[in-house]
Parts: sequence; C-alpha cells; structure tokens
Amino acid sequence: MERGPGKKPEWLKIRMASGASFASTRQLLNRHSLHTVCRSALCPNLQECWSRGTATFLLLGNVCTRTCSFCAVGKAANPPVPDPHEPENIALAVKSMRLKHAVLTSVTRDDLHDGGAEYWIETIRAIRALTPSVTIECLIPDFQANEHALDLVMREAPEVLNHNIETVPSLYKKVRPQASYKASLGLLKRAKQKHGLVTKSGLMVGMGETDDEVAISLNDLILHGCDMVTIGQYLQPSSRHLPVEHYITPEAFEQYKIFAEAAGFRHVQSGPFVRSSYHADALSIESEKTC
Ligand code: SF4
Repeated sequence: MERGPGKKPEWLKIRMASGASFASTRQLLNRHSLHTVCRSALCPNLQECWSRGTATFLLLGNVCTRTCSFCAVGKAANPPVPDPHEPENIALAVKSMRLKHAVLTSVTRDDLHDGGAEYWIETIRAIRALTPSVTIECLIPDFQANEHALDLVMREAPEVLNHNIETVPSLYKKVRPQASYKASLGLLKRAKQKHGLVTKSGLMVGMGETDDEVAISLNDLILHGCDMVTIGQYLQPSSRHLPVEHYITPEAFEQYKIFAEAAGFRHVQSGPFVRSSYHADALSIESEKTC
C-alpha cells in the first residue's frame, strides 16, 4: 500500500458542485436552528448530501466535552445547556425534508448525568410521532459505558444502531483519549445481543494504523455482532488537528471492502470519502431486506 502523506492525491479533490436543494436544505436547517455533524465536523460530503436533501442532525448542541484529536467539533468542559426545543425542531425538519431515513448523532456530553440519553429518546419519539414511516439511524456516543443510559436509547429500537470505533486500539490514546476500544465493542454487542438491533460501526484510516490492525478491528467488530461497516480516509480538518499519516488509495479501499465482506459484514462502504452516515439511507434500505 502507498504510504506517506505527501501531496493530497487526485482522488481526494473534492467536487464542489451543489445541486438545487442545497440552498433549501441549508435554509431549512437554519430556520429550525439545527446543528449538523456535516457542518460542525467539516464533512467533505456536505455539498453532495445537502444537494440530495439529506443531513445528519447533531443533538445536544455543537460543543463536545471530549477532545478527540481528529474531530473539528467545538470542545469545552461545560458546554451550553441543550436546547429544549431541539427534539421537536428536528422532527419538523425531518418532515419538511421528506426524509425516508433520518440519521441522528450527538456530541458527547459527559457533563450531563445521563450523557443526554433523555434528549435522544425525546428526539426519536418526536420524529416517530410526526413521521411514523421514517426509519431512524442513531449514531450514538458511548455514554461513558453507562448501561442505564445505553438501554434507554436502545429500547427505542432505532432501525440502525451505529457507534464508531473510529480507529484501531493502538491509536486510541492519540486519537480519542477519553474513549475505550473495549467499551465501544461492548456497546455494539449489547445493542445486538440484548436489544436485537441492526448494528453499524465506522473506521477512519490514514492515521498511522497498519493493514493488519485494520483487519483485526474488522474481525473484532464481526465478533461483536456488527452488521455494517464504513471505512473512509481521515482528512485533517485544520493544522491544529491530528496530521494525516498516509493517503489510502482507492484500490486499497477496495481490498478493505473485499476483506470485510469475506469476514461476514452484510454491508460495507469503503472509499476515500466514505463517512458513517454517507448514503446511510441506501444502506438502511438494503439492510431491511437482509438483516
Ligand atoms: S466525541 Fe470526539 S468525535 Fe465525537 S463530537 Fe466529541 S470530539 Fe468529536
């Protein structure tokens, strides 16, 4: 595999085309004062997804209590109190955007007693009340492995329960210091074994991991009952964030896909621009057919 960051390769040149509904998506999100991980995490697919009329809603504000070195989301030990109207506003936006599949994520609020689990529940219920046919994907934080908070959210039975391991265990200290690889795998196992949910996780590559480490982590996910996985290239949001160690070629992403499918994943998305909720609607429709 090609190594060493060097110049950004051709395949990572972002297509900045914005389609017709890009502006209407942005206006709608602003009108409902909603945060998205698309904007807060500087996602490279924002133009494409908003032009498709989809977005990933960021719950509990846009300030996180964690300090993951790859993430562009704002950070503070005591973020502002969450907006009590957020659940209802998200439900209204889901309806206005005529989404078939709504993807929810959140910052990590270690400052809240239940990590914000109550807000997650309210949001899921508000969406279901307004648009019962919409499928919901919850990309949840680890709630500090608080089993009560995890069960509260998992009992709402989202169609897809997503939680990213983000990277391989040897890089946790550097990449997501407040998280635990074991706890993240345990969370996915709990969602599958205790709640029977369709589970999904995601990895970023290009942070210094080896191919063997990626293979081991993919197998770990399978051993913890994970059904779907996304694998994408890490891109440095700013010079203050973790530097890119290497750019993975499209051919190598194809190799990861082949390996992951052989390992037993029902659905794999692997490519330079792949992110946890990239084309999540397509994946969830597929998973309904097979999971
Ligand atoms: S937990 Fe980490 S990845 Fe998630 S929003 Fe906070 S800083 Fe970013």
